[in-house]
Amino acid sequence: MSNKIILSVENLSKKYQDFDSEILALDNINFNLLDKEFISIIGPSGCGKSTLLSILSLIDKDYTGNVIYKNNLKVGYMLQTDSLFPWKNVLDNCLLGLKIKHIDNEENVEYVKELLRKYGLEDFMYKYPNNLSGGMRQRVALIRTLALKPDILLLDEPLSALDSQSRLSIGKDIFNIIKNEGKTAIMVTHDLNEALNVSDRVILLSKRPGVIKKIYDIPFKNINFSNRKLEDKYSILLDEIWRDLDVNNIS
Ligand code: ADP
Repeated sequence: MSNKIILSVENLSKKYQDFDSEILALDNINFNLLDKEFISIIGPSGCGKSTLLSILSLIDKDYTGNVIYKNNLKVGYMLQTDSLFPWKNVLDNCLLGLKIKHIDNEENVEYVKELLRKYGLEDFMYKYPNNLSGGMRQRVALIRTLALKPDILLLDEPLSALDSQSRLSIGKDIFNIIKNEGKTAIMVTHDLNEALNVSDRVILLSKRPGVIKKIYDIPFKNINFSNRKLEDKYSILLDEIWRDLDVNNIS
């Protein structure tokens, strides 16, 4: 991680129009994202986490404030469900984005095959998604996102469809892939352990309208995924975030 800011979010607010009323979903959000940083966004259900991510992905342009990416950086978006096409094999699923953009040249195809080999999917390249475990499917979905060589990954609860055991091992895989490939990431999650295991910083949003309630700088961010839980500060921070989340006060 460097000190270079690659994304600035300034005074970002978002309203939805709902029949006869307006719903303020996000209110005056401000933060910077550093190169190769991993930020998690947490907060109660309905606080605007997915809204924030879809604004950052540039899918939703209906907001006030500024979202400024430095130097035309490429953004990749990974959704909650893997949304793989069951009639396409693993490799073809991963090549889909490249084909749509007409950049499925030899070099890019080889890059995707290399990722599949590197991350334990070599023997599954020509298999179909229904022959894969949930965790493998998530890895395929991540590689499909990486195929377009994004600089920043936006991950919307990428592990939420997995059982708790797979979440841990796939969480570790996904963390390692993102770190190995030198990517910057913003992940929405409702799982505090997941956030503490992968992040450099965690942003807590309040209940709606989502405002930034607190930003935690993770003191053990230089420690690997699996070893973070062993840190004394881990459970202290987990308790602190639980308290700040104020689950008894979520309507
Ligand atoms: P989260 O991801 O934190 O659960 P969302 O970003 O999905 O929250 O939603 C934030 C708030 O905005 C919610 O309270 C929801 O009711 C409202 N909202 C989301 N999408 C729409 C929409 N298309 N129209 C009206 N209100 C919406």
